[in-house]
Amino acid sequence: MKIILFFIIVFVLSINILFAQDATGSKKYLKGQLHMHTNLSDGDASPIDVAKEYKEMGYDFAYFTDHYQSNDVSNIKVDGFLALPGAEWGAVLKNPYYNAIFNLHVNTLGKNLDDWGVFDLWKKHYYIHYSLAGYEEFLSEIDHDEMFNRTLSDVLTDFIEAAYKYGTIPIVNHPNWITYGLCPFDYRELLKVDLPYILEIKNASDGITEEGYKSVNSVEYTWDVLLSNGKNVLCTFDDDAHNYSKEVRDKLDKYNTPEYMVPGKTFVMVKADLNQYSIENALRCGDFYASTGVELEEYKVTKKSIYVKVKDKGKVNNIIFKGKMGLPLKWVTGNEAEYIFTGSPDEEYVRVKIADSDYNMALTQPVFQNGKKIILINK
Ligand SMILES: [Zn+2]
Repeated sequence: MKIILFFIIVFVLSINILFAQDATGSKKYLKGQLHMHTNLSDGDASPIDVAKEYKEMGYDFAYFTDHYQSNDVSNIKVDGFLALPGAEWGAVLKNPYYNAIFNLHVNTLGKNLDDWGVFDLWKKHYYIHYSLAGYEEFLSEIDHDEMFNRTLSDVLTDFIEAAYKYGTIPIVNHPNWITYGLCPFDYRELLKVDLPYILEIKNASDGITEEGYKSVNSVEYTWDVLLSNGKNVLCTFDDDAHNYSKEVRDKLDKYNTPEYMVPGKTFVMVKADLNQYSIENALRCGDFYASTGVELEEYKVTKKSIYVKVKDKGKVNNIIFKGKMGLPLKWVTGNEAEYIFTGSPDEEYVRVKIADSDYNMALTQPVFQNGKKIILINK
């Protein structure tokens, strides 16, 4: 009897171990895109063609984030590829430092516009997009006093609150957008926002200077200032693609214009199963990294260290472990590296940046030494 009981206990324990391993070990990295457009707004290809193009480029999933539009993603069927619902919203606001305006854009991932009817909320905040409404016409029609009444941080807080209220995930898009005489915004505005969100550190479309210029900080620096001041901000890189058609691409080639709004320049690698629930759970928990081409073979965080192994693509990789305010803590040239925590105050958080010899880059999410984890929910 005792022997039978022993075997039952061993059996139950081994099942638990199996389940425990399954929960953490079975998920692979999926390649995804969190920001792009179709011809439902100002993109130049249909949702199904866009889905096929992303699938061909090796993506497992993409969020369809047209301006103020819902894509009925249930109609977008491409084998082995998951089309997910989203939208991009905007507001125009006065910059308090200069005689200029901000154009705030926020993505909401996970639901269609039709599901939640928040259009009025955005309308209330003076939405505008250049492709949808004439800029001058818009400015002549609006009540300037009312429009300029609210600060960027107030309106952004409203946007993010609404995003969580309706069960979506917010991304603050391209803070360093400068086309049309727009003014970039940085930590001076974002420090006043307490809610967690994902920040678009790199946007591969035109007019975005995420690396900074003149007196404007890089978005990566903005991110470090936010993290160093206790803000809960995760990072992403996005395509914001608009141009898929051969006609546009040929024109770009002919005039030697940089391919400014084409798909496939960035991606996120998300540790999840290929379904919406699992992907969004991983995004909320920060189980993803952002890249322009560098891929990780292994990324392991324990209480003692961070270990990273870069997929060998025949390039020279620089692996940089960065601490508080972006301070480089360790720099390794090679395909793998480990950072062992020393307890220094500079390690309030540690994140990994990998840059290869072909100008590709990847950023991982911050690891906090006080046990804090960034989770995207409205507390
Ligand atoms: Zn966009």
